[in-house]
Amino acid sequence: SIRLNSVSKSFGPDVHAVQDVSLTIEPGSLVTLLGPSGSGKTTILRSIAGFEDISSGEILIDGESIAATPTHRRQLGMVAQDYALFPHMTVRDNLAFGIRSSRRARRERSRLSSGQVAERVDRMLALVGLDGFQARRPQQLSGGQKQRVALARALVTDPRVLLLDEPFAALDKHLREQLQIEVRRIQQEVGITTVFVTHDQGEALSMSDHVAVLNRGRLEQYATPLEIYDEPATRFVAEFVGRIN
Ligand code: ATP
Repeated sequence: SIRLNSVSKSFGPDVHAVQDVSLTIEPGSLVTLLGPSGSGKTTILRSIAGFEDISSGEILIDGESIAATPTHRRQLGMVAQDYALFPHMTVRDNLAFGIRSSRRARRERSRLSSGQVAERVDRMLALVGLDGFQARRPQQLSGGQKQRVALARALVTDPRVLLLDEPFAALDKHLREQLQIEVRRIQQEVGITTVFVTHDQGEALSMSDHVAVLNRGRLEQYATPLEIYDEPATRFVAEFVGRIN
């Protein structure tokens, strides 16, 4: 599980990006951080990833404070809106690089033959529906295919937590909807605890086990999509999910 205990993050004296946020993310579930621009979603995600030092409170992954966990032991997979694939490498090498560069894999490397690496790469590409794309380079892929490769690369090291920061933002509506369904299927198939950032209400409500609605750094409501829609806790939530116009 992931546990946030009264997490706050300020930038300088005036910017209170995240204020006193507490929530628990159950193992194997998908939680969406939903809110308008500037509400603190990315700051929370980056804090869970350990890229930001929080100002107060604590973040626990499986009971272990991330502040006390060395980077290489955090075992996170992350996908952002820019695909961040290595352009000069094939799809296969992009994934294999992910395996080889993870510290845990480096320790395992004596036991991981190149055949086993290739087998793992193939398995992940099949999972995201890109069997047969091993030899392509990123510029030979569509936007949606690049995001699938990025997802496969995030999962190939078998992380404990998957962090998705507006992964579909650059895609058109049809592709967005297709990938929403697919990411949800893959997440459930792998059973990985996932935190998903979006400002798209429909996306949040359709994909998640729980939704955390944020407004100016504060948690307005943390509940299932149905509860958020049927029983918005505040006027802000009601307006943001479209119940009041
Ligand atoms: P968006 O949907 O636009 O990405 P967000 O909900 O993810 O927004 P954050 O990126 O978490 O919001 O930003 C929350 C607040 O913190 C904003 O007011 C932002 O300007 C501020 N902020 C974020 N990062 C920094 C930084 N490195 N330095 C100063 N202020 C920052």
